[in-house]
Amino acid sequence: MTNIPTPIETLLGALRAAGYEAYPVGGCVRDSLMGRVPADWDLCTSALPRETEAVFAGYRLIETGLRHGTVAVLTDMGPVEITTFRTDGTYADGRHPDAVTFVPDVREDLARRDFTVNAMALAPDGTVIDPFGGREDLANRVIRCVGEPDARFHEDGLRILRALRFASKLDFEIESATARSVLADRALLDGISRERVLSELRGLLMGPGAGRVLRDFAPVVFQVIPELAASAGFEQHNPYHIHDVWTHTTMAVDASPRDEVLRLTMLLHDVAKPEKFFTDEKGAGHFYGHAQAGAETADNILRRLKCDNDTRRTVVTLIDSHDIQPPQTPRAMRRLLAKVGEERVRQLLACWRADQSDRAADIMARNMPMIDGAEGLLEEVLSEKACLSVKSLAVNGRDILALGVEKGPEVGRILEALFALVLDGALPDRREELLAKAAELAAEGK
Ligand code: ATP
Ligand code: MG
Repeated sequence: MTNIPTPIETLLGALRAAGYEAYPVGGCVRDSLMGRVPADWDLCTSALPRETEAVFAGYRLIETGLRHGTVAVLTDMGPVEITTFRTDGTYADGRHPDAVTFVPDVREDLARRDFTVNAMALAPDGTVIDPFGGREDLANRVIRCVGEPDARFHEDGLRILRALRFASKLDFEIESATARSVLADRALLDGISRERVLSELRGLLMGPGAGRVLRDFAPVVFQVIPELAASAGFEQHNPYHIHDVWTHTTMAVDASPRDEVLRLTMLLHDVAKPEKFFTDEKGAGHFYGHAQAGAETADNILRRLKCDNDTRRTVVTLIDSHDIQPPQTPRAMRRLLAKVGEERVRQLLACWRADQSDRAADIMARNMPMIDGAEGLLEEVLSEKACLSVKSLAVNGRDILALGVEKGPEVGRILEALFALVLDGALPDRREELLAKAAELAAEGK
């Protein structure tokens, strides 16, 4: 088991010295028992919030969670949350407890927690307080609700997605009664804030079990992103693709790097395939335009889920280009770089590779070297320090004016024309040649 870090020991010691009970609880206990280093350490205590604040009078405190009994204490490890033992009372709206009630017993606090593996506390003597069989479920790698699953999901529908997130993150199975309720109660997710839904969904996508969980619990995913439902079982009638669209999607998620933007991109990249499907006279399936239509649908989905703008715009750009041929000439690579920039091109390379994950072997054998080749071209073009925007041309607007061109749109038009020629490799990015060509263009324009 991982050792408790010193700043955490200090906080526990201070609370205990003041006569209160205090324990590490939840994710940190789970992760230490699994031999992982916890991302953060949450503590629970019998001290009431005001009492906790009094114990840590000499520290910087963050009081944003006070209403739920949480005081965050700033330590060398960053803020550590200390929450008073509590029950959550009733949940009239299926989202927020109507009132939290502070309770004297840690076991009552553990009983309000979502899953058995998240409902353990560490006692001072090193033993684990584990009233719901969390250690056994950890050993068997299962996610199981504390208490009756239907009741727990009706209290807080978000737990349905949290079950999927933990199953993916820990690569666990969901225990059968819990799994049945996850599926049966999925409509409860309609009442949950879109921000919280997206945050759990992003966590799910990042786990090692993402593809499997997406396949096993597809109806839950379709509950929050109905646009994906048509992909399930949608056969592609095309020798390039061996799986239905949804299965392919889940495999592409697994095949992409552990990066939230790329994984969201792969989740949504083929969302428009079913609507764009048609069969040619030979009976082969095609999906012309699915990338552009998919980019638009992804934009709507991510807006609805209140995704941050940066992520949304990047995902939309990547989906829009995911189906283009990877550039096979320096000229094509320069054009792509000029259009989307180096970071996007690198992300596109990852998307193209992930998209090959379940292709037929002969298609893979053809496509993968093409993608590798494009990556080589990227490095080559970058090392040339080629001019990739009008702004970085060796001449600027003043130079064009000096040739006698009148101030106005014509200046921009000439610069754009020069840039297009440089990008194509038809003209070197040198003042002399550029000015000569500009003079020619200016004369033509008159
Ligand atoms: P991670 O390392 O992924 O953050 P975690 O277990 O710390 O995992 P959090 O979402 O940070 O997960 O929640 C902390 C703890 O609070 C959980 O372990 C669980 O005991 C409890 N908890 C959080 N959200 C809920 C909820 N919606 N219902 C019941 N208990 C919850
Ligand atoms: Mg946590």
